[in-house]
Amino acid sequence: MSTIGNNIISVKASLPQGVRLVAVSKFHPAERLREAYDAGQRLFGESRVQELQAKTSQLPDDIQWHFIGHLQSNKVRQLLSLPVALIESVDTERLLRIIDDESAKRGITTRVLLQLHVAMEETKFGFSPEELINFFAEKKHLSLKATRISGIMGMASNTDDTARITADFSLIASTFNRLRNDSSLQLQGFDTLSMGMSDDRDIAISCGSNLVRVGTAIFGSRQY
Ligand SMILES: *Cc1c(COP(=O)(O)O)cnc(C)c1O
Repeated sequence: MSTIGNNIISVKASLPQGVRLVAVSKFHPAERLREAYDAGQRLFGESRVQELQAKTSQLPDDIQWHFIGHLQSNKVRQLLSLPVALIESVDTERLLRIIDDESAKRGITTRVLLQLHVAMEETKFGFSPEELINFFAEKKHLSLKATRISGIMGMASNTDDTARITADFSLIASTFNRLRNDSSLQLQGFDTLSMGMSDDRDIAISCGSNLVRVGTAIFGSRQY
């Protein structure tokens, strides 16, 4: 078994039942993904449309691809022409509308997560908790024609401070639960809470994550 194959097996073994693993393969060549595939991994995450396109054409078509990067509106058409199972990183209402219009035009239903921004870094993308709550309170999700909002994605602050990381994930999780438990919102299939990366996935899981996005701990460090 390759190193990457062994990493897949040990990361998977460390996850409680009900927590799924996205192998974040951005910046790694297709041969590395193939090693993970050969160890049984079928769910991969990519952050650039061009790179996703190249990899989908080189790798088996029983792979489920998640898009996890910042998506520019002028790349939406190209992304939706690819076999993408879930866009995890919808970070504005405007982007959501563009995805919805383009999906309707194509006659497909696109599954997305809305990205929630709670971290300290200004550079990170996403809805604020207040924006997100208001979006649903105003029932805007009910006007989507061809998009299914399946849950929330979020990142914790980039810090060693475990208390801060825990607070960030707790806020993301409580926002998710508040929405999911509000029957007046008529949310259907709103069941995915994507939190946790290589270094903070255990904390994320203890806060309720059911989808972790792990890159470095599987593929090693990235050469940007
Ligand atoms: C790159 C990336 C990851 C993976 O991070 P690692 O620290 O390598 O595990 C997870 N989520 C998102 C949104 C990313 O962009």
